[in-house]
Amino acid sequence: MSDETVTPILQVEDLSVEFHTRNGVVKVLDRISFAVAPGESVAVVGESGSGKSVTAFALLGLLDPAARITGGKIVYRGRDLLALPERQRREVRGRELAMIFQSPRTSLSQVRTVGRHLTDVLARHHGLSGAKANARAAELLAQVRITDQERRLGAYPFELSGGMCQRVLIALALACAPSFLIADEPTTGLDVTTQAAIVELLADLCAERQMAMVFITHDLPLASTLANRLLVMHAGQLVEDAPTARLLARPRHPYSAKLLAAVPASAATLAA
Ligand code: ADP
Ligand code: MG
Repeated sequence: MSDETVTPILQVEDLSVEFHTRNGVVKVLDRISFAVAPGESVAVVGESGSGKSVTAFALLGLLDPAARITGGKIVYRGRDLLALPERQRREVRGRELAMIFQSPRTSLSQVRTVGRHLTDVLARHHGLSGAKANARAAELLAQVRITDQERRLGAYPFELSGGMCQRVLIALALACAPSFLIADEPTTGLDVTTQAAIVELLADLCAERQMAMVFITHDLPLASTLANRLLVMHAGQLVEDAPTARLLARPRHPYSAKLLAAVPASAATLAA
């Protein structure tokens, strides 16, 4: 769906980021450019340290204080987020962009129930409270295919499996009805069956809500099951941006070929 006639919801142009460390300045993103169409799911793949998470944090405006954006644009629905005053930027972030991370268990507070997590967000973003907030929280759990919602609302994160915690985090992300979801390694650390279920859930939710998604992973077969387009990152550069089927059949960049060669044959067939 990288049809040039569609106006992208997100356009990243020549984005460069460096980190100021004790050992000097390290360039971690080097003129990254890509676009995402409304409702489109793309996957960013690349080995650990290639700059995937830094890209995600830059999109959200949540970079580490040691990071500096040295150039480029992040245009969201026609507005350059980097040129917006912080307050407006925060508004876009809160209302339209959502993110889910790796290690769902540690992203939730262990001393608050699932219901409390959800009703807090609903109060903050939608001014909902009491029975209305509880009803909406139960609805959100149903949307992420959690059954027996009343009981789950009263549960603490430590009482839930890793996959269930990730569903709760997805429900929290959906609470603001975002039009753009950034998922950074959301299934890392989960068992293979749970991974597949979470990926299927994310794909369904994107389709149901016409929500665009950037799915970040080091797992090429997993990325291939989800996205029509793959962005390959290597050492801070985006080295290939191609339709999934084409990239799997005929990778153009040597690093893409290397990533593909590292995938066990059975997994590659599965993804194709
Ligand atoms: P990944 O592709 O694994 O998500 P990251 O985006 O987290 O990689 O990191 C990209 C590069 O930026 C790495 O070389 C990492 O060491 C560096 N980096 C990330 N965060 C910081 C930081 N806070 N300070 C210095 N360097 C960092
Ligand atoms: Mg990362």
